[in-house]
Amino acid sequence: MIANNPIFIPGPTNIPERLRLAMAKAAWDHRSPAFGEIISPIAKGLQQIFGDPGAHVAFFTGSGTTGWQSVLVNLLAPGQRVLAVRNGMFSERWIALAQDLGLVVDIIEAPWGQGAPIAELGDALAQDSAHQIAAVLAVHNETSTGVRSDIAAIRQALDGTKHPALLCVDGVSSIASMPFEMQEWGVDAAVAGSQKGFMLPTGLAIVALSDKARALAAANKGPKGCLNLEILFTALAAGSFPFTPAVSLVSGLAESIEMLLEEGLPQVHARHRHIAQGVRAAVTAWGLEPVAHSPELFSDTVTAIRVPPGYSGNAVVEHARNRYAMNFGIGLGPDGDRVFRIGHLGYLSEAMVLSGLAVAEMTLHDLNFSLTLGAGVAAAQRHFSDKTEA
Ligand SMILES: *Cc1c(COP(=O)(O)O)cnc(C)c1O
Repeated sequence: MIANNPIFIPGPTNIPERLRLAMAKAAWDHRSPAFGEIISPIAKGLQQIFGDPGAHVAFFTGSGTTGWQSVLVNLLAPGQRVLAVRNGMFSERWIALAQDLGLVVDIIEAPWGQGAPIAELGDALAQDSAHQIAAVLAVHNETSTGVRSDIAAIRQALDGTKHPALLCVDGVSSIASMPFEMQEWGVDAAVAGSQKGFMLPTGLAIVALSDKARALAAANKGPKGCLNLEILFTALAAGSFPFTPAVSLVSGLAESIEMLLEEGLPQVHARHRHIAQGVRAAVTAWGLEPVAHSPELFSDTVTAIRVPPGYSGNAVVEHARNRYAMNFGIGLGPDGDRVFRIGHLGYLSEAMVLSGLAVAEMTLHDLNFSLTLGAGVAAAQRHFSDKTEA
């Protein structure tokens, strides 16, 4: 079967030819001056993409999970308390990692499909008058549910209670695709990964710290192993790495940043919003409901879609893969089979997403969902087309 189709999982995302070529290089000496020269433009580009020209950025071999761990081991020590919202699979996994590393996690539960509950966070911070909570952990874009949380509002809750806790944010499925304002939101630590908005294969964790967080990381003498960010910051500032980096991915990252900045970050964000709206128009036309409870929560990078009673989300994903060679995201978590997900981030055009919607629609039709062929595609076309219908 011819299967050179775009992929619609929320990471890894489609890898453009330009980035594949940028990574297809003969071995490169990572200690050579030429390699060192690509590090500083990458760092500057990342500061722009994270929304903080003064951020301390590091990129190193690993995935988003490695990025989470680097934040936890550099900024916190076992036994310290952190406050975290659990509203989906990724927040759940970050909490589990924090617990495994010996942190005491105060968990605020929110229904899957909801964002971070700001009032409850504010109450928990207000009650902590002794300031034992060292950090708040928040997932900006919950990839399991397609829900965006309001990070600026979490900052306001911290400031409103004059609480000094660090604000640590998972931006793995939002940074480089959706607006992220590290400086304006007062984020102390932000985590991204190469395989989502950066359009690369998995393999790099990308982390940014505020001045306050870097000072804390430098002062924290607890064990950090090979994830010691201070050592990385120092090496990167000198145009090198403390140990062999994933050279081809670093080449790819340099090119990916160039692509994003050439398009323009506001344009990249607007394209993601526009494509997400097309996907949501199709979902509505299919008569299906997003997992996200209300429109202000809708993610611009992934839509999790509930299937009606008696249908299976896993069956949708399997049929699309087996019959049409196209990949969509399975549902995650306890309600997994009730959901399937369409990833719409990274290297994606209107034309590409229309092919995904057409296949998703045929799949639902094949599996006897009640819909008219063409309805969802037409809804997206109406959103994308220049001509408004009378
Ligand atoms: C993909 C993702 C991660 C990281 O997962 P890895 O598989 O370790 O790269 C973390 N958080 C969110 C929100 C994600 O979407």
